[in-house]
Amino acid sequence: MPIYEYQCTSCSEEFQSLVMKKAEEQNLLCPRCGSKRKRKLISRVAYHVSEQDRLNTFKPGDAKDDAFFKDSRNIGLAAKKRAQQLGVDLGTRFEEKLEKLRSDPGSVIRDSE
Ligand SMILES: [Zn+2]
Repeated sequence: MPIYEYQCTSCSEEFQSLVMKKAEEQNLLCPRCGSKRKRKLISRVAYHVSEQDRLNTFKPGDAKDDAFFKDSRNIGLAAKKRAQQLGVDLGTRFEEKLEKLRSDPGSVIRDSE
């Protein structure tokens, strides 16, 4: 069941809702001011995409936007894609390093000092 995020265009409140039908979406009220005027925030839907899906849709040659580089989950994606294409298993040590890097991007700099 898809959960969408909306922003009220009257008071800027952001809220989530589980939407089953288009008609329900139209009747959604802002929980803060009760307005029906809202816009769908589509950018964050990508948050729920699994790594495997991101890997499958990731194209190393494509131009990346800022959002791509700001998303720490994309760290190491290029390396993983390459390994996938070559049929190479990067091993658990690589996964561990990557996990550390993604959750704490500053750790690399500290470790090399
Ligand atoms: Zn509102």
